[in-house]
Order: sequence, then structure tokens, then C-alpha cells
Amino acid sequence: GRPGCECNTCFRGPDCSLRLPNCTADADSGNPLFLEPYWRRHAAASAVVVSGWHRMSYTTTDSMFQSVELEQQIYRLHRAVGNAVVDDKHVVFAAGSMQLINALVYALSPDANAGSPPARVVAASPYYPAYRTQTEMFDGREYVWGGTTAQVGNASRNSTAGGGGGLIEFVTSPNNPDAQLRESALGSSAAAVIYDRAYYWPHFTHIPAPADEDVIMFTMSKPSGHAGSRFGWALIRDEKVAAKALAYVQNNIMGASRDTQLRMLGIVKAMVANIHAGKDDIFAFGYDVMRARWSRLSAAVSRSRRISLQEMAPDQYCTYFKRVRDPSPAYAWVKCEMEEDEDCHDMLLKANIITRTGVTYEGGSRYTRISLLKSDDDFDVLMDRVTEFVNAEKDDD
Ligand code: PMP
Repeated sequence: GRPGCECNTCFRGPDCSLRLPNCTADADSGNPLFLEPYWRRHAAASAVVVSGWHRMSYTTTDSMFQSVELEQQIYRLHRAVGNAVVDDKHVVFAAGSMQLINALVYALSPDANAGSPPARVVAASPYYPAYRTQTEMFDGREYVWGGTTAQVGNASRNSTAGGGGGLIEFVTSPNNPDAQLRESALGSSAAAVIYDRAYYWPHFTHIPAPADEDVIMFTMSKPSGHAGSRFGWALIRDEKVAAKALAYVQNNIMGASRDTQLRMLGIVKAMVANIHAGKDDIFAFGYDVMRARWSRLSAAVSRSRRISLQEMAPDQYCTYFKRVRDPSPAYAWVKCEMEEDEDCHDMLLKANIITRTGVTYEGGSRYTRISLLKSDDDFDVLMDRVTEFVNAEKDDD
């Protein structure tokens, strides 16, 4: 039971311990509630109390929108985890990495008044759909959505003669939906590459080396699980690009919420204080949960002929844990193997499992995504439905 909880739709009662039979499993969203038990155990150390008179000003006493102390704590977190080189980077706060998507595209696009053709924003499929939806929503003279990296032909990559401006490529690593560590598909033929490293934390992947690209996005939503606080940050090497991204956030929302920055300071301090502290280490905790979930799901699915999961390379060395480790992806990228199961999302829906169709990621309807990030209750219901689905195949024989 989870006292004070908001019950999953399959559970009822004051502590959500009454389970409804045959309930549909909802594995759609990437809501990171798997970390709620961690913060329940660290409730006092992570609590932040804000009096009514506190933090009322738009800015700090130094007329800043960003808390310097929070910047320092974020640098400490990256150094302790070893997942990003921060020494030569500027940091820009935003309302979740969702806001950073357009802030960075804007910052990296050429000035429309200078007569340059609009930048084209691209990503390799399957890709996180917000890159497309955000770009299309803000579509201005400076940039347009250019499609997948496969669609932009070699001929038009370098030149503006090929029907457009320079290419801005989003690279999600590890990728959402298929959890693979990715590199840029366009390489040096892209005008700029934005690395989205939302999942580059030891919960979800081994850390081969600190990330050191020119433009990197991070969010608190996935490492700490505080998705509702809406806090993300970019690490940017070039000073001018950083200034432009900061200007975007200031014009848009007058700087990231100071309440959120205050809460994040408490959260990041608690994370840093417990690094490598056994069970109190949020990364050890998160890795154990994600690894156990992947291992249970992949064991069940390995008995199926109708569905399969993405391959995850085993025994990868992690510089954070200083040992080889098992896979622990945030998402399962499901493939329907039977000719007749063309729409994998619909097929699983008939088995009472809600997933997110691969069409959203331009990955095709034969694929669909299962989120492994939700609460223990959600995952338990998911495993019940998947197990029933696989057992039903045997009965068909
Ligand atoms: N990038 C990726 C790859 C994501 O999966 C998500 C959340 N699902 C985001 C960015 C946005 O996260 P947020 O706005 O909560 O920081």
C-alpha cells in the first residue's frame, strides 16, 4: 500500500491496496513514478518548506534568473555520476527539457534577417515525437521540420541549394523509444546536433564515458522522477548559443520558476549526498528497479512467438558502478512478429495492454512502446496481462 497516494486505475482503497480483477494495464506514458518509493524513504531529507514571504521576487538579489547554488549542485551531480563534462560549458535552466527543445532550435538557427534559408530540424526514426510537434508548432522563418535523417538526401545535406537551410539534428541517447545509445546520423554534415540525454543516468544505461557534445539537454524528470516540477537544463559549450537559449527562456517565461529551483536544490543535494551510499544511492536504487523489471518482462516475452523486444547488449561496463551490468532500459520497444499483427498497438490493446504506437515515433505500426517507468502497481498489472497473453499463445497450439 501507498498511504496518501493517487491510486492507479486498477487499485482502490485508502492505501491503494485493493486490486480490481482483469484490469487493463496502462503502459503508455513515461511518468517516472518508479522513484516514488525512494523519496518516501528519504522524505525528511528531501522536504522543502517555503514560507509565504519567501522567493517572491522575479530574480535573485544579483538580478539573476538562475540560482548559482543550484548550478553548482548540478555540476557536482554530473561530476559525481561521470555522465557529462561540465567544466567548459554554460548551463541554461528551463521548464522541463520540453521547453529546451525549441529554445535550442531557436538558439542554433540562423538569423532570418540575414537572408539565410530556414534551418531544417531532423531526427533518425524512431525518435521522440516532441522534436517534430514542437518544431511544427513554432515553425517560423528561421526553421522548419525537415523529416527523418533518412529522408534528407545526401545531396541536400550540405548545400542550401537542395531546398533548404542547414540541418539541426536531435539525437536521443539512450533513445526514446528503443533505449539504444545513439550517435549522430548526419555527423559533420549537420549544421548543429542537439544531444537529448534525458536517460543518460545509471538507472537506465551503463555510462561508458562522460558526455562532451557541444549542446546537451538534461531533465530532472527521469533521474529524480520529479516530472511535475518541470525542470530541465542544457549544457552548452558556445557562449553565444548559450546566451541566445537563455534569452529565449527569459522572453518566454521570465526564467525557470524559482519555487521549482528551490525544490530542485533540495532534491539534487539529497541525491549528491547519497552517491555510492549503498541502498541510499538513488542510482543504485533506480538501477535495481529498472533491471528487475526488464529481466521479468524479457523472460515472459521470450516465451512468445507473437511479440519480441529490442535487443539490449549484455554485460556493458559502467564507469559509475565500476563493473559490468545488465540492461535496464526505460522502455520496451515491442515488435509484432506475425504477418497478421500489422498494428501492434491494437493487437496488445485487445489483450488489455495500453502501449504507445510506433507510428508516433515514425517507427511503423508493427512496433509499439511499453513504458517501464511507472509505479510498482502499474508494472505488476502489466506483468499479469503480458503473462496471460503469452500463456494464451500456448493454449492456441
Ligand atoms: N526528451 C525525452 C527523450 C523524453 O523522453 C522526455 C520525457 N518523456 C523529454 C525530453 C521531456 O521531459 P521533460 O519536459 O519532463 O523534461
